[in-house]
Amino acid sequence: MISAKLDHVAKEAKNIYSFYFKPEKKIDFTAGQFIEVHLHTDNPDSRGTKRWFTISSAPELEGLFSITTRMAESRGSSFKESLRLLKKGHEIKISEAMGDFVLPRNDNIPLVFLAGGIGITPYHSIISHLLAINQKRDIKLYYGARNIDELIFKDELSSYLGDNLFPILQNAPINYSGKIGYLNTKDIFDDLKDSNCMIYISGPEVMVEKFKKEFIELGISSNNLVCDFFPGYN
Ligand SMILES: Cc1cc2nc3c(=O)[nH]c(=O)nc-3n(C[C@H](O)[C@H](O)[C@H](O)COP(=O)(O)OP(=O)(O)OC[C@H]3O[C@@H](n4cnc5c(N)ncnc54)[C@H](O)[C@@H]3O)c2cc1C
Repeated sequence: MISAKLDHVAKEAKNIYSFYFKPEKKIDFTAGQFIEVHLHTDNPDSRGTKRWFTISSAPELEGLFSITTRMAESRGSSFKESLRLLKKGHEIKISEAMGDFVLPRNDNIPLVFLAGGIGITPYHSIISHLLAINQKRDIKLYYGARNIDELIFKDELSSYLGDNLFPILQNAPINYSGKIGYLNTKDIFDDLKDSNCMIYISGPEVMVEKFKKEFIELGISSNNLVCDFFPGYN
């Protein structure tokens, strides 16, 4: 286990925060990977004192790493309540980073990224990494969010992706000219230019399971699908 101390918290949207930690030693990770976070929690509920979180920052961020999470609007877990109350300098323990929701070695493969809400975290790490190393890849990102406020990291993502960022809002402000509704596998499938592309899906577990099944039914090989499930969200 590695110790890390809270450095600062950034509010990304109503109820969505990034927590930046300073690890006792540099953590070795690839953009898109996750860690297990152990947190001292008084009177923990049945969900316990540890959670998995994707590292939302790039490996190139000097001396710090971040996790980004949504706080429940009404009754959240005791874990999230302890996280919310953390003060600068408070310590957590983390595991080594793991997971294969990472870029393919071959940088010529076209990539299609799908993010549902907080499932944007691994893509933020990956795109920030590509910006830091100044590497251009063929990436389209379809990003579903409840509303415009929850379209977190939009500016950084669009500085890399330009017109290849496709936000889809469930609730849009009046006069919003972008796409309104829900992510839809059929529309994304119809948009695919290259059948050899890799499709990455990240978000709440039910969404990821549904999309994976639908892409396979549409004829996409499971070898071309990379999934990151976030359990625990209703
Ligand atoms: C590989 C991986 C990567 C992940 N990456 C991220 C990430 O980057 N960001 C992220 O936010 N999450 C991520 N997750 C999910 C994360 O680990 C948590 O499961 C998730 O944030 C929910 O947290 P929570 O259980 O503390 O519930 P909360 O967020 O507090 O609440 C979620 C819902 O459960 C309800 N609830 C909470 N506690 C209880 C209870 N005791 N009994 C009944 N209902 C309750 C709440 O009311 C709310 O509706 C990841 C998971 C995995 C496996």
